Amino acid sequence: MGRAGSAVEVPGGRDTVLPGYESLAENIPVLHAPRLEAKAREIGGYLGEGYTALSGMLSVGPPKIAALLVADEDWREAPRDNARPYPPGLPYFTRSAEPPVLVLPENLAPVFGPRTQATLPLTVWHELAHAFLLSREVVRTPAWLGEFVPQAASAAVARRVGLSLDAHLSQIEGEPGFTVRSFRAPAGPEDQMSFQNLLLLLGIGALERFGEGFLPRIFDALWEEDEIVDGARAETLLAGALGPDGREWLASRREF
Ligand SMILES: [Zn+2]
Repeated sequence: MGRAGSAVEVPGGRDTVLPGYESLAENIPVLHAPRLEAKAREIGGYLGEGYTALSGMLSVGPPKIAALLVADEDWREAPRDNARPYPPGLPYFTRSAEPPVLVLPENLAPVFGPRTQATLPLTVWHELAHAFLLSREVVRTPAWLGEFVPQAASAAVARRVGLSLDAHLSQIEGEPGFTVRSFRAPAGPEDQMSFQNLLLLLGIGALERFGEGFLPRIFDALWEEDEIVDGARAETLLAGALGPDGREWLASRREF
């Protein structure tokens, strides 16, 4: 649906994309460099699964967004919130374009790990969960809660679509020397990844203990907050969303 010499049109959108990029028509259009069609189809499949699962799980309609699969050589041109390009290979969600766009690199940065069949789908579902959350205004929260929600949501999608995470989880090192609450930015990429993997373990533990029902509750709780959420408030919100013994369960988890 591109016009010669101009950006591809996303239905209802403008200026989202890079010149010459093509679109796969899906619930979430995947725009991609012409040579990345096969990868775009793979990602489109994960987005479709995530879109269906998260729409079913949460009490909201899916956000109107597009995905942009960016070739390595075009990374500096991708839409983003800041003037300076982001480090290559790190996916992100940005509302700097219309519709907002989930930006995915051709190749994930080497730090992404463990590398298993689950790495890419979990990464796509994580970013998609950010997009669902940001379909409404969200106040600032501690990083651990802001990243716990998409990590738990991505694990919940995996459960719904029957993607086993056993091989993936068995390769996560469980003792990075910090917990999700003691982790402090700025941190190096390896520590950032360890932080995300701790949150994934905590999310999976929460799903096993409480089921996926805590996810719509924590999304709703975050949307209802109108003041910045501090650490104590974040714990209260998550414990409340988990259920009656949520606080005790959190306290019992070594990731926490
Ligand atoms: Zn994130």
